[in-house]
Amino acid sequence: MIRPTIATVDLEAIAANSRAIAAMLAREAAAAGRTQPPGVLAVVKANAYGHGAVPVATALEAAGVAMLACADIEEGVTLRRAGIRAPILVFGALSVSDLDGVVEYGLTPTVSTPAAVRALEAVAVRRGRVLPCHLKIDTGMNRLGFRHDNLGRTMPAVIGSRHLRIEAVYTHFGTADVPESSFFDDQRRRFDRTSAALGAMGLRDVVRHAANSAALLRDTRTWYDLVRPGLLLYGIVPPPLASALDLRPGLSLTSRIVAVKGVRSGEIAGYGGRWTADGPRTIAIVPAGYADGLDTRLSNRGVVLVGGRRVPVVGAVSMDMLTVDVTGLDVNPGDEVVIIGHQGDEHITAREMAAAIGTIPWEIVCRLGARIERRYGSSEK
Ligand SMILES: *Cc1c(COP(=O)(O)O)cnc(C)c1O
Repeated sequence: MIRPTIATVDLEAIAANSRAIAAMLAREAAAAGRTQPPGVLAVVKANAYGHGAVPVATALEAAGVAMLACADIEEGVTLRRAGIRAPILVFGALSVSDLDGVVEYGLTPTVSTPAAVRALEAVAVRRGRVLPCHLKIDTGMNRLGFRHDNLGRTMPAVIGSRHLRIEAVYTHFGTADVPESSFFDDQRRRFDRTSAALGAMGLRDVVRHAANSAALLRDTRTWYDLVRPGLLLYGIVPPPLASALDLRPGLSLTSRIVAVKGVRSGEIAGYGGRWTADGPRTIAIVPAGYADGLDTRLSNRGVVLVGGRRVPVVGAVSMDMLTVDVTGLDVNPGDEVVIIGHQGDEHITAREMAAAIGTIPWEIVCRLGARIERRYGSSEK
């Protein structure tokens, strides 16, 4: 039994995107005279941005990424149980988590707060182990991480811990996708100063990483030893940036028309009467709604592809359905509807959909509902 609304995830495209990024890193690193290009730390948090964590992580591991990253311990455990053997970094705070999974499943936690250090040390002591971890520095985003300007107070206990082995130091940029913001540069400089300060405190020969997709595209100085792309792996360039990378979309979202009907001039369609026909119209019903993750802001604003044409979403997006105006087209129940992807000569990207409703493409793909089946194969026709 398969519902008509399906996300087709192209694992080959995602693997190819990671190789395209690695090739770019290798090219630029060689041009800059670096002996070793940065590795790829592939971000597969949030069910691999909605694409399916286990299949995507499996494909990326096979494509040779250096490390994977998850949001929390539970996500990491899911990958290990599915047989993923690559190193897995956990980004999240650990202070209120059950940390046993870190040890039992060989995950690499991030220490980003004093509470996380204490919690991890307690587990290490209880298990009689020295635990590897990455240290996170807050260079100004003011989310997780030890403040960059207070290291003298916080770091001795962390660096000096006999129970933790700091393998890497990292930070995260708050404005890498805001080209007009100079704060991106400030954060990078602070991170450089942090590295020097940590070295002076005795923490040497650690790996460094900082670059999300936007930073990776914007400034080679943010590459350090590893880069941490998420969005680019899924074939989406973070807006408003552009990229010469040859990326393929990681997924397409399709459905089928389940009903077609005529609407008379002056009649409404859908909840709230938010659309009124300004003449005789033909509308088609598509069995996908906000329960499937389609944003209600697509109401009267979204576009889908039917019969190779762009047709507008009319009226409100409901829980399980949306309506589109197919006036003038020869449309029948069973016909394919493309919500994200290609049809004929037309295509709609997650980035375009995000722009249409005033959100970010990360949100579009991460929110694809659990009810939508992910089918793995090529989305190219
Ligand atoms: C999500 C995340 C990334 C990846 O970000 P993209 O913008 O999708 O490339 C990198 N680093 C951290 C810490 C993250 O949370």
